[in-house]
Amino acid sequence: MGGVIREEIRVLSAYHVPSSAGMVKLDAMENPYTLPPALRQALALRMENLAINRYPDANPLQLKATLKQVMGIPEHAEVLLGNGSDEIIQILALAVNRPGATILSVDPSFVMFRMIATFAGMKYVGVPLNPDFSLPRDGLLQAIAQHQPPLIFLAYPNNPTGNCFDEDVMEAVLQAAPGLVVVDEAYFPFTPQSFMHRLLSHPRLLVMRTLSKLGLAGVRLGFLSGPAPIIHELEKLRLPYNISVLDQMVVEEVLAHPEVLREQCHQIVQDRKKLFEVLAQIPGVEAFPSQANFILFRVRDAQAVFDGLKARGILIKKLCGAHPLLTGTLRVTVGTALENSQFLDALNDTLQPSHS
Ligand SMILES: *Cc1c(COP(=O)(O)O)cnc(C)c1O
Repeated sequence: MGGVIREEIRVLSAYHVPSSAGMVKLDAMENPYTLPPALRQALALRMENLAINRYPDANPLQLKATLKQVMGIPEHAEVLLGNGSDEIIQILALAVNRPGATILSVDPSFVMFRMIATFAGMKYVGVPLNPDFSLPRDGLLQAIAQHQPPLIFLAYPNNPTGNCFDEDVMEAVLQAAPGLVVVDEAYFPFTPQSFMHRLLSHPRLLVMRTLSKLGLAGVRLGFLSGPAPIIHELEKLRLPYNISVLDQMVVEEVLAHPEVLREQCHQIVQDRKKLFEVLAQIPGVEAFPSQANFILFRVRDAQAVFDGLKARGILIKKLCGAHPLLTGTLRVTVGTALENSQFLDALNDTLQPSHS
């Protein structure tokens, strides 16, 4: 297919999802809890009468109203729904793409920013974070001046580093940006910090969230909130039936009881604190504070630790090799209390096999 498929696509390797059968799965920032029996029963009953022979509602107003209420989206902001926030990133790229246009973010950050820029045939500029993972004010402002990006992404908290960036520097980016600035709040359930309340005070600020990390990763629902004139343009690029009837039904039912997932996430935050404290005490481990549902940590030999954990039935994410700042790092998702202690036992065992 040499001449047909674009060169920049042919050199990519497909997004790799490792097999996790039979493993303690702490690699993908999933909520480890299931729904309570009453809610599952309610879903089953609704499933029975669901019109799966019909196309889904192409503009589910009730669902958007529920999202606005549950998520604290300002009243005058508009909402775009995506099949996961990944689809929204793609819609944004399609909307701003012109020959030579740049998507700007920081590195290391969420890999889909770069990947979707490549898919869309756009330039990607990732301004390196400072060694402490904070935002480099001068580097960012200089890159904005140089590349005039129509689209900037800042993940807040950032993935894979787990920190929230300095708000003053984010504000400086908002002031300097010539185009859209998307604050990606995929990890909003695990931090009180948010840019949602600043929406509409900046004409080009957009806040993107997803239900994935909250507890509905299997459902694939992300949304973008922002000023109506921008959202209305983006709506034109959204494929008409991108949110299935199944997805819409599950989200309606689950968000009618927002306390369920909220309490699960509260538990995850408590357990993150405990996991961090233990992890940080282990000799040879440097753990980085996190506002998300995962913890990044550094060891001397990340490949050996990754393999050792895997051999003991624990799957986490290896990040070394992805970026110089990530040398020696691994990322563990906060699981149930039991999963976290299984992970810690396996980690101790891997680091000091003589103890067992
Ligand atoms: C997980 C993640 C997403 C993707 O969310 P989906 O809605 O599942 O596509 C987006 N942004 C960041 C920073 C993430 O970590």
